[in-house]
Amino acid sequence: MQVAIDSSESTPILVWLRQDLRLTDNSALIAAAQTGRAVIPLYILDETPGVRPMGAASLWWLDRSLAALAASLEAIGSRLVLRKGVAETILADIIAETGATCVLWNRLYDPAAIDRDTAIKARLKDDGVECESFNASLLNEPWTVKNGSGLPYRVFTPYWRAARGQLGPVHVEPAPKTLTAPDAWPASDALAGWKLHPTKPDWSKGFDPWTPGEAGALERLDDFLSGSVDGYGQKRDFPGVEAGSRLSPHLHFGEIGPRQVWVAARQAAEAGDAPAGEVEKFLSELGWREFNASILFHNPTLPTANFRPEFDGFPWAKDPAAFEAWSQGRTGYPIVDAGMREMWATGFMHNRVRMIVGSFLIKHLLIDWREGEAWFWDTLVDADLANNVGNWQWVAGSGADAAPYFRIFNPIAQGQKFDPAGTYVRRWVPELANLPDALLHEPWKAAAQLSAAAARTYAKPVVGHAAARERALGAYRSLKGD
Ligand code: FAD
Repeated sequence: MQVAIDSSESTPILVWLRQDLRLTDNSALIAAAQTGRAVIPLYILDETPGVRPMGAASLWWLDRSLAALAASLEAIGSRLVLRKGVAETILADIIAETGATCVLWNRLYDPAAIDRDTAIKARLKDDGVECESFNASLLNEPWTVKNGSGLPYRVFTPYWRAARGQLGPVHVEPAPKTLTAPDAWPASDALAGWKLHPTKPDWSKGFDPWTPGEAGALERLDDFLSGSVDGYGQKRDFPGVEAGSRLSPHLHFGEIGPRQVWVAARQAAEAGDAPAGEVEKFLSELGWREFNASILFHNPTLPTANFRPEFDGFPWAKDPAAFEAWSQGRTGYPIVDAGMREMWATGFMHNRVRMIVGSFLIKHLLIDWREGEAWFWDTLVDADLANNVGNWQWVAGSGADAAPYFRIFNPIAQGQKFDPAGTYVRRWVPELANLPDALLHEPWKAAAQLSAAAARTYAKPVVGHAAARERALGAYRSLKGD
């Protein structure tokens, strides 16, 4: 929906940027630019109670993304104003300082953001400040995709069929070429003063290959569509192969929007530059992103409560030692340990391995999915409330359209199937690098081949697979009252 903003006023427009850290297809920013009025782009490091604070890896990303955005804004004659505090108070302060009479933003769909934004919008309107919001982060907004009974879908396949079917032509709006500056800029915090980059220790060395920001996002999309999209459907399950787009943190921070991804991928397929079937598979993953946003929107308690209430009585174990072994990549199962170490070192973990480590925590260790979700939240650069919670509940079996609880991943068989040559495990668990492929995923059988150092340092399995599987099935049966 196009919203026309009054061009006749001479007062500035505040554009409150959140998870839309880009210029292209940034609907709120473009609507502001089109008025010709002065525009004040603002980012608030929000401290509103109830809004979940970002994790450490996300803050690392935010630091660089804001620097990139500030540079892009300066290149078109503008600036990025930075403030820290409770969003409602900061907005009121800046309105008072600048005489702005209009505030624009792009919508977010998680429950705490909705509550905050609804309250702010009401207050601004009461104060006579024009306030409009836009969609720049989803292909379909959650309330627009409904089944024949007018209800939201709970199962992905029919959801995506309907969502995709109703989409119509997708347009991408170009970045504004200039933004009019206000007569006087409000004061801004210095980004460095926020100290988002870790020190003492700086654990982020392995994050260096990432390029946060709009230019990095566009380059990643280009690279993917001109390269690894070929064979994506089959290769994406193999963590030793570069097959995914790695766009997830860029999409989370809105450095690129889904409409841009959609249009570029479809164009690549239509021009014969990318195989149509692979592009379709890739777009259906964007569909999961949309589905999770929709499920969270319609089920606001999802970050803390089971989607399926029958899981409320699950006999979770309190086992801090096992949790620590899992989080540090010391479970004794190489594919699990490789995944946990990859995430710690780079802020990212391959999707198949996320499922394996999640299943291991929940089913082999019987640890509550909420503990795993919180660890991922702190350590992933793509930590995203809807996707993280949705996927953790999917793995647990407690979520919408979830994997059944009794489907328990065997970490040995998963490793053998998806990392048969051990490329991934050897990279992240180098102490096992010398083992032959046949024993790599069962190092406890390789006493003769393990170096003395590896035998000393590599963990023994925290639980045996067969016994853990039986225990998990027993816990599940207790839930059903069997
Ligand atoms: P591609 O394969 O290139 O997919 C393209 C895009 O589609 C991704 O960038 C992402 O935006 C979206 N996408 C892909 N798979 C999924 C999925 N299963 N669910 C939702 N969206 C998806 N993804 C996050 O973005 N943030 C999270 O916090 C997150 N937590 C997860 C936790 C668990 C336990 C699991 C199993 C998965 C989680 N995922 C999360 C989903 C998925 O692992 C990542 O989106 C994916 O690995 C990102 O890699 P990519 O960009 O190369 O994906």
